[in-house]
Amino acid sequence: MALKVASLEAAVMASLAPAASTSASLSRQSIVSGLAFRGQNGFQLGGLSSAGVSSRSLALGGKKIELDIAQPRRMLPVSATAVVSESVQSTVDIPKLAEKLDSASPLEIMDKALSLFGDDIAIAFSGAEDVALIEYAHLTGRPFRVFSLETGRLNPETLKLFDDVEKRYNIRIQYMYPDAAEVEELTRTKGLFSFYEDGHQECCRVRKVRPLRRALKGLKAWITGQRKDQSPGTRANVPVVQVDPAFEGLDGGPGSLVKWNPLSNVSGTAVWSFLRTMDVPVNALHFKGYVSIGCEPCTRAVLPGQHEREGRWWWEDAKAKECGLHKGNLDGVAESSNSLGEKTEVADLFISENVVTFGREDMEALVKGENRDKSSLVVLYAPWCSFSQAMDESYNDVAEKLAGSNVVVGKFNADGAQKAYAKENLQLQSYPTVLFLPKNSSQIIKYPSENREVDALLGFVQALQ
Ligand code: SF4
Repeated sequence: MALKVASLEAAVMASLAPAASTSASLSRQSIVSGLAFRGQNGFQLGGLSSAGVSSRSLALGGKKIELDIAQPRRMLPVSATAVVSESVQSTVDIPKLAEKLDSASPLEIMDKALSLFGDDIAIAFSGAEDVALIEYAHLTGRPFRVFSLETGRLNPETLKLFDDVEKRYNIRIQYMYPDAAEVEELTRTKGLFSFYEDGHQECCRVRKVRPLRRALKGLKAWITGQRKDQSPGTRANVPVVQVDPAFEGLDGGPGSLVKWNPLSNVSGTAVWSFLRTMDVPVNALHFKGYVSIGCEPCTRAVLPGQHEREGRWWWEDAKAKECGLHKGNLDGVAESSNSLGEKTEVADLFISENVVTFGREDMEALVKGENRDKSSLVVLYAPWCSFSQAMDESYNDVAEKLAGSNVVVGKFNADGAQKAYAKENLQLQSYPTVLFLPKNSSQIIKYPSENREVDALLGFVQALQ
């Protein structure tokens, strides 16, 4: 199989064409040099890491890899570059591979990704703790590529990190810029901060999504820093590798792109422990209380104990992190749709001996202040709601921890026929809603956060006891 660098380069150049006028500093030469270096043996991709020099070694999938963290990086001989990825998607069963790699380390997953896709894969680097991906790629000893979305609204600290990373790993990051005409249209008609008024989607589409789409159109696979613990609702089911459900790759059409998430099963704490151990350069904003880092106007520091996603687009409240009330049916039988649009039944949630099922009459009594010899924690949910589903485990854990205490942990299916009642009497605006009903009182206190992890929910209960 022949290396497909030329076609990759052509594809990325083609995909960048609309952006060519957006940045005078982004010349064709700089784009090309960001993609490939021509060595004695032919093309060598940019973003190369060191070949093995033996100050450290590790075993990886039965193979011993020699590492040198301290030595200057040098390019691999072209013979060491990775296998061409042509038809990987058609020959590899991705769901099966995801299952197989689910318990693998990020290093093993990264090694597999780079070995399978070679020069047709790139790391998407946001300038935050996903710098761990670059370190893992470097540790594999394989060549790798990195791209970043330079939205025009990043913090100076993030740009500094890009520079630090380029120097440390001896790579050129492939920066993707938004289309100048689109940015002009947006800012001239709506101003520089329209996202505070009508949501971040439009600005993100112009500055992030479209440039990302262009970058991915030149690839067959990409590597992200997504982790399950980043957003309990939206990222709870992030497999280590998947057929990308949203974007298209080089070959075009659904299923033409594979997405790798080597950090999927790793906690934020473990990522930080890795970064510290390996002495990796990090974004200076992390030292100012920032955890999840995006564009400057849309990112803020979080307090200890706050969930990292609460530092992003905070003004949009919890709307994007909860289910609206539009779905569901009238008779209360939980239904959803499969990928073919067919109605399917959905299993009930919070099935635990420690969780009491409240019916309408129970709730009416509690609202009146009756049966309040103990306090109650109640979740109002809809079984089809992915955010309700995402808190199933944590809520059951909370119930287990509070078992035998003076707090009753309950659930109320507020979908279907109960929806109107719950909206009117139980402050239901979206699913899931968590309420605390103190003993000997008729008060109802709504949990104000979308952080539904065990510690946060227990903290809420303890604060009101
Ligand atoms: S994060 Fe904010 S500034 Fe950045 S693209 Fe999205 S809305 Fe625009």
